[in-house]
Amino acid sequence: MKFTRRHFMKHSLFLGSSLLLSPVLLHAGQRNEIRWIPAYEKLEMEGKLAQRIKQAYAIFENCQLCPRKCGVNRQKGEKGFCRAPVNPVIFSYHPHFGEEMSLVGEKGSGTIFFSNCNLRCVFCQNWPIAHEGKGKEVQDEDLADRMLHLQKMGCHNINLVTPTHVMPNILNATRIALKKGLHLPLMYNTSGYEPLEILKMLEGIVDIYKPDMKYMDGEKAAKYSAGASDYPEVTKKAIVEMHRQVGVLKLDKRGMAIRGVIIRHLVMPNRVAGTEKFVKWMAETLPKSTYVNIMAQYRVEYKAYDYPEIARGITAQEFLEAMDSAEKYGLTNLDPQSIALRNFYRHRRSN
Ligand code: SF4
Repeated sequence: MKFTRRHFMKHSLFLGSSLLLSPVLLHAGQRNEIRWIPAYEKLEMEGKLAQRIKQAYAIFENCQLCPRKCGVNRQKGEKGFCRAPVNPVIFSYHPHFGEEMSLVGEKGSGTIFFSNCNLRCVFCQNWPIAHEGKGKEVQDEDLADRMLHLQKMGCHNINLVTPTHVMPNILNATRIALKKGLHLPLMYNTSGYEPLEILKMLEGIVDIYKPDMKYMDGEKAAKYSAGASDYPEVTKKAIVEMHRQVGVLKLDKRGMAIRGVIIRHLVMPNRVAGTEKFVKWMAETLPKSTYVNIMAQYRVEYKAYDYPEIARGITAQEFLEAMDSAEKYGLTNLDPQSIALRNFYRHRRSN
């Protein structure tokens, strides 16, 4: 082929544009690998975290941190329904290997169990902690040190269990820990019973929300969770808000969760948890790719023996029915361990 002046111009332009573009493409490639930044660190860089902590602390004077809205002054030592003091009480903190796989990884989820609870369910599996408040009262600085200790142990996230009544302390401790090098996703592991206005204060701070959806029926919520008849309505709104803030679950290249919502639903005997209603609501309200963990580990604990309808474990059939509902409504991001259990029960049934 004859190499004409036109060819020369065309090739020169192509080569030139490649040379010009390559640094841009390289930069774009690098941008994908830019160090992940926790939400709270970004908010601190914007100069907004300190103000948020101040606002949160003011709520202690007329406590409205949860839908119980007791209005007590916790700064003055008054106690509301949860019986929590103004300082956080911690039962334990350690790497936890019983969470979802994308939270556990190799080194575990850095879990901090807070004592006291605003829901107080009759079947609570952590009743010495949640109902009786066993634990050690600490300062926010100590809480920050525990976060850093978990990071030093190699944990993949900070997993705050039952955080609602200590939200201001968590915010303050997170900022203290950030200044000392905290660089892990912050996970809010909650019963889901959260007022919208409080959740809005957490926007840009929490990386991962892990709410429960315990019941879909107000009467059942009232019966088993100390009169919380508004639990289904409050929690549905809370989950929608959580999703608005952080979206569907995102993993890093190691498969570890870095942002998003994980919804947990415990199947209860005799359809008490309203699983079919829950998955229907999920499918109609949030993306079907929302991560949902339908759990089979209900066990009779605490005062559940006093309620015949929940005074037994669930059957394989009840679990299969729950998983079949999730399939029927098209949920596509179910926890792999619950899928494995479903497959095991199906296999057993067919043999
Ligand atoms: S956090 Fe405790 S004191 Fe505050 S409103 Fe809720 S139950 Fe009442």
